[in-house]
Amino acid sequence: MIEIRNISKTFHQKKQAFKALDQVSLNIDKGDIVGIIGFSGAGKSTLIRTVNLLERPDEGQVIINGKDFTKLSSKQLAEERKKIGMIFQHFNLLSSRTVFDNIALPLELDHSSKDQINKKVNELLKIVGLEDKANDYPRSLSGGQKQRVAIARALANDPHLLLCDEATSALDPVTTQSILQLLKDINERLGITILLITHEMEVIKAVCNHVAVIDKGKLLAKGTLGEIISDRENPVIQQFINSDIMTLPQELNKRLQKEPQDGLFPLVE
Ligand code: ADP
Repeated sequence: MIEIRNISKTFHQKKQAFKALDQVSLNIDKGDIVGIIGFSGAGKSTLIRTVNLLERPDEGQVIINGKDFTKLSSKQLAEERKKIGMIFQHFNLLSSRTVFDNIALPLELDHSSKDQINKKVNELLKIVGLEDKANDYPRSLSGGQKQRVAIARALANDPHLLLCDEATSALDPVTTQSILQLLKDINERLGITILLITHEMEVIKAVCNHVAVIDKGKLLAKGTLGEIISDRENPVIQQFINSDIMTLPQELNKRLQKEPQDGLFPLVE
């Protein structure tokens, strides 16, 4: 479904060239949750941004559902981008808009009718468990609630793909687990493919069935979670496994399972 073929990208700054991506190729199947893991500066964000061409690669192709994105006109690209939701570390909500109006934004931009917007936003509020926050402003929400609003907004145009750029990095471990569970539920129940980047192995272990390891702009390894974790020969992978900074303390894990969960989807099945 998504084919990233031999992507390279060099940034030029102050007369210096820096190769952020070097001949990276990756295939992602429909309905998969793929994690891209790597240290800071490895090229993860650049890679995820080339998928919807927010970053145009110098060479290589991005083929999604048979369409080569690098060959689309800007009008065609704008249409295709509507079907790709993005979620960021710092939520990127508009502070002057209520929760409802933040989620409604992509629909307004798409000239949906008022009735269509009401129906869709209420549906999305239910999915992310924020029905009672529709009229609140982002400043009164917790980090986890803000990310739920951002996820609802990313779902507004019924995307087939969600790109998550360090979506849980600004959240505490319990909230991280609940957001990851929400993403997993969205993937399972709505069939949306998810590509997420992280520098934390625990995030990968919690939700991903396939993993790509990126280091210094190169794809170091790719495979199922089991294959990657058992790769004892790869020093970078071993470093990630040994430096799990996000392992949930037992008592937090217990609390997460005991507490009543909000939202349409139960967080713990
Ligand atoms: P990661 O997401 O793995 O932390 P990035 O993809 O953000 O890594 O960045 C990879 C490298 O490319 C970094 O060294 C970063 O400084 C550089 N880089 C990213 N974007 C730009 C840009 N717009 N201009 C110049 N250098 C950039």
